Parts: sequence; C-alpha cells; structure tokens
Amino acid sequence: MNFLADLWKLQKNDLKIEQLKEDFRALEAKNKLKPFKKRLISDKEVLEAIKTKLSGMKREFKKTELDYNDLSLKATELEKKLYSGEIKNLKEMEQLTKQLENINQNKEIKEDLSLELIEGIEKLEKEIKRREQNLILAIQEYKQEMLKYRKEADKIEEEIFDQELQREQLLEKIDKKYIVLYEELKRNKQGIAIATIKGQNCSGCRVSLPSMIVSMTKAGNTIVKCENCGRILFWHKELEQEDS
Ligand SMILES: [Zn+2]
Repeated sequence: MNFLADLWKLQKNDLKIEQLKEDFRALEAKNKLKPFKKRLISDKEVLEAIKTKLSGMKREFKKTELDYNDLSLKATELEKKLYSGEIKNLKEMEQLTKQLENINQNKEIKEDLSLELIEGIEKLEKEIKRREQNLILAIQEYKQEMLKYRKEADKIEEEIFDQELQREQLLEKIDKKYIVLYEELKRNKQGIAIATIKGQNCSGCRVSLPSMIVSMTKAGNTIVKCENCGRILFWHKELEQEDS
C-alpha cells in the first residue's frame, strides 16, 4: 500500500503548503505597515516644515532686534544733538524733532513685532516638542508592529520550507508514473487527487461506491479510481475515523 500511502501523504503535504501560502497572503492583506510608514513619513515632513518656519522666525527676530538697536542708536544721537544747545535754527529743530518722533514710532513697531515673534517662536517650539515626542512613540509602535509581522511571516515561511522539504523527500520515494498521475488529477480535481472511503462513499464526490471497488481499494496494492469523480481511492484503517 506504501505508494498509495505516500501519495496520500504527498497530497496532505500539498494541501498544507497551500494552506500556509493562503495564511501568508492573509497576513500580507491585513498588514498595515505600509500605510503606517506613509503616515510616519508625512508626519516627519510636517515636522521639518515647522522647523523651517521656526528658523525663519528666529532669523526675523534677530533682524528685528538689530533694527531696534540701530534705531535706538539713531534716537540717542538725535536726542544728543537736540539737547546739546548747538541748534539755534527753529526749522532745523522742528525737523530733528519730527525725525526723532518717526524713529521712536518705528522703535515701537519693532518692539511689537519682536514680542509677536517671541510668542510665535515659543508656540512653534512647543509644537515641535509635542510632535517630536509623538513621532518617537509612533516609530516605536511601528518597529514593534514590524517585528510582530516579521515573526509571523518568518514562522509561516519556515513551515512552508519544512513542508517543501518533506515533499522533496516524498517525491524521491514515489514512482514517477504515480506522481505524473497524481499531478494531473490534482490539476483537474481542484487540488484533490486522492479521495478516501467514508463508509461506502467516496470522500471526493460523496457518491456511494460499489462493494467491489471498496474491497479492491482496501486491498491497497493497485490504483483504484472512483468511477464517478475519477479520483484515486485510498483506504487506511485509521482514516475511517479521521476527517479529511
Ligand atoms: Zn468520487
């Protein structure tokens, strides 16, 4: 019966490999790593954009401070001139006073801008900190998810490898002509080339088998096919109870 039992094992092997490949596809399908990674990249881009904005603001702040200092210097000079008593001409005095007023107005504008920028910078710095912390957590989560996925994928791949190895060993044992027959039936019978006998019925098509066919199958030394579905029939005592 040996070659029939081997063919039966081969089929079990093939079905197991199919199942494992199906598991792998299912794992791939529910894998959320790709959209997760995309989100991380976009979060990082947003963070970089905010950092760039912050740098711009800091530059503007520096420039505003410099402008303010320049204006302060000018104002001091003008005041010195005005109150030195050197200027006797009333018109010139008026002009200088006007100039000083202008400068002081500009100073105020710069001061307001400076305060606004400080506020903006603080706000951005807080936002950057918050986003950086979130990003670190998200990256950790992503790495964990990736490890989990890899672990599951590796497990399935290892099982497939083991099954394929077993298959190779079986193929060496079984006569080539039976393998050709098996493969052909497998192609034409939805992957099930070998059917077992359940009571009096073929497990492949559920049709009741003639007693003679059952006895011949039980003898187990030759290929007996189900007259209805054409599958090779296989009987083994242990299979009487087993679900297959
Ligand atoms: Zn059948």
